[in-house]
Amino acid sequence: MNIGILSRNPELYSTKRLVEACELRNHTIQIIDHSKCDLVMEKKQPQVLYHGEYLNDFDAIIPRIGASVTFFGSAVIRQFEMMKTFSVTDSQALLRSRDKLRSLQLLAREGLGMPKTVFTNYSKHTDEIIDSVGGAPLVIKFLEGTQGIGVVLAENKKAAESVLAAFNGLKARVIVQEFIKECKGTDIRAFVVDGEVVGAMRRKAQPGEFRSNLHLGATAEIVTLTRSQKSAALKAAKAMGLHVAGVDMLPSSKGPLILEVNSSPGLQGIETSTGVDIAGKIIEFIERNARKRRKKISA
Ligand code: ADP
Ligand code: MG
Repeated sequence: MNIGILSRNPELYSTKRLVEACELRNHTIQIIDHSKCDLVMEKKQPQVLYHGEYLNDFDAIIPRIGASVTFFGSAVIRQFEMMKTFSVTDSQALLRSRDKLRSLQLLAREGLGMPKTVFTNYSKHTDEIIDSVGGAPLVIKFLEGTQGIGVVLAENKKAAESVLAAFNGLKARVIVQEFIKECKGTDIRAFVVDGEVVGAMRRKAQPGEFRSNLHLGATAEIVTLTRSQKSAALKAAKAMGLHVAGVDMLPSSKGPLILEVNSSPGLQGIETSTGVDIAGKIIEFIERNARKRRKKISA
């Protein structure tokens, strides 16, 4: 098959591993910097132009879209979808996953557990907001933050009030969330590929830090999920419409609490800590689906 990886950096571990996994299975692979694609629209003839060439013979694409290019990246994926190219990540699912509010609304509807969360239209009733998530300490998050940036712990009521007032003043959209103390800076990342948890790790934040993002220096180790954690991860990925997903959750006495579902989850931490060939699993998923789709088209 002819596979395209949408990635802005060929040197990233995840990109390199996906290339390796493709080559091992004798697929042709090309890395496309999606930020340099031009989208051409014309009656019944959508095209993607890249360095003067039309990209119309991919069987499948693997989007690895960074948070700073979500809008343009999703438009590129959508263009490939219009061209009937199989995409590992749907454009809509990518957009959904990048908005923490929209994601939590969907996950709540599906009956998934989550830290209690409040979103308001820059409400000045900070007292009520703080009370509704059980008081301070509490967590405040930018709607579109990632890698732990934009996630703030307000340790007491005064801090919570001033941080909320500051964000409101800047017209920055945030959610306010109950702080789950009992997890003590650890969370769980479950990696889902095609309706199966293919690997899971427990991430531990650096001392003095509550955010367990690997980008912030957290460490990771393999973990065996409980039945309810596994089922929550699969349900969350499904609710978001993601075939490949990194589901972040906090274990708690009330069961797993979902934080977010990542649509371009990194491979380095999870492959290193679990020893599983996750890049290979993603390529096998493509093999099962892109072929099926081709058959459907020719039938
Ligand atoms: P990001 O998209 O920036 O990764 P997350 O919502 O996943 O944002 O939060 C980053 C990290 O902060 C989580 O992995 C977790 O360790 C910690 N965290 C987030 N929300 C809470 C919470 N409500 N209670 C306790 N820890 C939290
Ligand atoms: Mg996260």
